[in-house]
This record gives sequence, C-alpha cells and structure tokens, in this order.
Amino acid sequence: MDRARILIADEDDVLARTISWLLKEQGFDVTVTLGGERVLDALTEHEPDLLMFDVMMRGVDGYDLLHRINADPRWRDMPVLVVSAMPTDEATARLLSLGATDFVSKPFHVRELLARIRMQLRVRQELLHARSALRSTEVELDRVRLEAENRRKIVDILHEVTGDFSSEELYHILVRRVARALDISHCSLVLARPGDQVGVVAAAYEAPGLAHLEIRLERYPEIRAALETGEPVLIEDVDASALYNDVRLDWAAAGTLVPYRSVVALPFRLDGEQAGVIFLRTLLDEASLGRADVEFGDQVVRAAVAAIRRAQVIESTRADKARFEVLALTDPLTQTHNRRALMERLTSELERARRYALHLSVLMVDLDHFKVINDSYGHVVGDEVLRGVSRVLQREARAVDVVARFGGEEFLVVLPETGEEGAVALAERIRARVEETPPVTGGEYGWLRVTVSIGVATVPSTRVNSPEELIAVADEALYRAKAQGRNRVCS
Ligand code: GH3
Ligand code: MG
Ligand code: MG
Repeated sequence: MDRARILIADEDDVLARTISWLLKEQGFDVTVTLGGERVLDALTEHEPDLLMFDVMMRGVDGYDLLHRINADPRWRDMPVLVVSAMPTDEATARLLSLGATDFVSKPFHVRELLARIRMQLRVRQELLHARSALRSTEVELDRVRLEAENRRKIVDILHEVTGDFSSEELYHILVRRVARALDISHCSLVLARPGDQVGVVAAAYEAPGLAHLEIRLERYPEIRAALETGEPVLIEDVDASALYNDVRLDWAAAGTLVPYRSVVALPFRLDGEQAGVIFLRTLLDEASLGRADVEFGDQVVRAAVAAIRRAQVIESTRADKARFEVLALTDPLTQTHNRRALMERLTSELERARRYALHLSVLMVDLDHFKVINDSYGHVVGDEVLRGVSRVLQREARAVDVVARFGGEEFLVVLPETGEEGAVALAERIRARVEETPPVTGGEYGWLRVTVSIGVATVPSTRVNSPEELIAVADEALYRAKAQGRNRVCS
C-alpha cells in the first residue's frame, strides 16, 4: 500500500511541526497547513487519506468548515480527526454530529493519537474495499441484467439493498424482495456455518416479525448440504428426493405432514467463509422451483452480500467509536470518570454555576493510611479496597453528581447545585458509610477497616476562579482533616 497521506491543519506552528515529524517517523506522508482558510484548498491539492484539524483556529469557523467538508462528496470516505483544547460535552457531541470521525482533546498522548489515526485509516481502507466490491458486483449484474428474464426485478432489489441499512434490516429486505420477485410464499435467511448443529433464522418473509429463531439443523438436510458444498441445493420434488430419506422416517414417526413441494437452499459467504443460506420453499399448491429460480436467487444473493458486508463494517466502526469514547473517559480500575473526564465536566459545571449564579461543591476524598493496607495485604487487596470505596461513592452520589478518580487513592466528587451545608452532609454520610462498609469481604482478611478523610470546597467563593483553584481549596480542607486526626470532614 502507498504511504497514507495525512493533512494537518493547525495554527499552532510548533505543535503542527512536532506532530508532523512524529507521523513522518511512523511512515506517513504528512502535509501541514498552518492557517484555517487554506484547508479546503489544501484538501483539493493533496487529496489526503485523513484530515486532522483544530476546530478552534482563528479566522475560520471550525464547525462550518467541518460541515462543508462533510457535505462534499469528494471527502466522503476521508476520516476527519478533530483535535482541540478541552471543549465542553456539547461541543464534542456537535463535532461528531457534524461529521467528525473522531475527537481528541489537547493536550494528547502521542500513543493514543497514533492509535486513533491508525484505526481511522484502517476503517477507511475497509470502506473503500467494500465499496469497490459493491461496484464490481454491480458491473457483473449489469451484464446479467441484459440477459436475464427477470432483469427489472434485480435492479429493483439491488436498489433497495444498497441503501444505508443495518445488516439486520438488509436480511429482512432481502428475503422480502426475493420472495416477491419469485412470487413464492416462503423465503428465509438462515445464519450458520458448515458443521453447525444450530442455525439462526435472521429473517423470514412468511413471519416478518421473527428474528433470531434458533433451528436444529439435523432437521434440514438441504441447508446442511448447501453449507458443506458451498453450492446451491435444488429439490424440485420434496416427496421424491433421497436427501430426505432419514428425516422422512422422523416425519412419519411424528405423524408430520410436510406441506412443501420444492426447496432451494442458496449458500452465501461473508469474509470468505460460508455464513448461511437463503432458504426458499414452495407449498404443495404452488409451482415447483427450478434452475432459473436458483440462478436468479444466486445473483441477488451475491449482490446483497456486498451490501451486508458494508453495513457490518459501518456498524462495527460505530461500535468501536462508541467504545473508544467511553474508554477514553473511564478509569479502568474503578470504572469511575478519569481525570480527563473530570476536568471536562468540572469546567462545564463551574461555567454553568457562574452563568446561573448557582452553588457548586466538590469533595476531595482521600483514603487514610492507605499505604499501610498496601504494605500489609499487597496491591491486589489495595486495588479491591479502592474499588470498594468507589462503589460507596457511586451509591451515595446523586445521578447528576460526578464521581471521578483524581489520583492514586484520591477521589473527587462534583456536586452541582449544592451549597456548603449540603456538601458537608453528604461528605459526612460518605465518611460514615465507608467506615461501616467492609471493602473486602470474606476470605482470610475478615473485616478490613478502611476510613477516608474528606475536604469540601464550594463556589461562589472569592478565592475560586477556575477548576484548579476549586480543587486546591478542597485539597487544603482535606489537609486540615488529615492534620486533625483523619476519618473526618473539613470545609
Ligand atoms: P494518608 O492518610 O496521609 O493519606 O496516608 P496514605 O498512606 O493514604 O497516603 P500516601 O500518599 O502516603 O500513600 C498513598 C498510597 O496509595 C501509596 C501508593 O502506593 C498507593 N496507591 C496509589 N495508587 C494505587 C493503586 O492504584 N493501587 C494500589 N493498590 N495502591 C495505590
Ligand atoms: Mg491517603
Ligand atoms: Mg493521597
């Protein structure tokens, strides 16, 4: 593959050049444009595989720029990685809704930035492949269309299956369209691999509400045969076919009357592997399925598979993105907010408190003599204690409060619309709960006593103009609580 081209648009000269140098070290082809106005020209000139830009450059409206890039079909498949110094939650949501593929806030870790760039480029590559596969299938179908008697129907179906659907929706559309084109009453899509005992019916024309019905494949010899050979199986006359000799005995034993005249099982592949079959059946009072039906069905299935694959790539990209966003804001040990998420939330809550003249408090919670616990019981137990304390904090906090791990054994709780009195009361309740809740239960440790000291700070206050200052005031209060003997609250 050619070297991936990256365009960096950032007015911070030093940062842009540093990143550019780093990315070149990693083998990327990098172009930098320093001003905001030149971004569109630079896109046309360099046709990058990925654009990374700061949404807050002087002289351009970053949101408008993002919107224009997103609206231009030429950049349809180009990931846009937006970087910016700490915007609010609203800004993040807005960026993603305007078409940014990912968002990294400044300052960022080089390793994280590289991982995200690589992921976006990989996804783009997959999308391009899926698109070209779809295009070549369409070309092939165009040829068939001229010859086939059901030409109108194919175009119809393809049209429908290449839209922006989820794979689940595509399964439903596919069975509906095939059933209607062939004018048969029974058409379903069964997901299964060769050798599977159980298949999953993902969609059935005869039962539109159905999804994820498990079926035992021992009862479906035609599905098994299609999966194992990778070839379509056509049974023109169910009554006479030797394929059913075994199950026919079961039918007879159970007194089952089989209402089907003919059956077709069309296997399809996803990612190079047998993934399932399209299962067509006609009833005794319907016409028998024949060779032409198999050929037609096969063409449609092949075309649809490309669309399904594309839908899956898009779905997994979305899921990755969502997972990444959560991961980037969560402390892995306690599953509370991490420091980055905390600072974002605290900044916006402080801004809101100022704008609407509301109270806002924070609690700085620090475990007492935690070093002793680590030294006596080891770090694994220490970690368990940290998780136990974080559970107490999350239980006692309201839904609007923000619980975050601030440092090693320090937590910060942000309490919107809460004055000093309310904050001290909550802090006192937390202190008491921690003291009475064994963070590690059972086993060789029995009852392990843990206590916390808590410092409280509240705005409005003449001493506080920033998140950092609010935290510093809470830290001073915490220091007093420690000095006065620990296991207490100071404000
Ligand atoms: P104090 O009452 O004054 O707060 O005493 P302390 O022992 O709690 O405070 P100190 O700051 O001396 O020690 C904090 C300890 O927390 C030291 C460090 O080993 C431990 N620690 C920090 N992060 C973690 C962690 O993620 N897991 C574990 N198990 N221990 C941690
Ligand atoms: Mg401590
Ligand atoms: Mg500490």
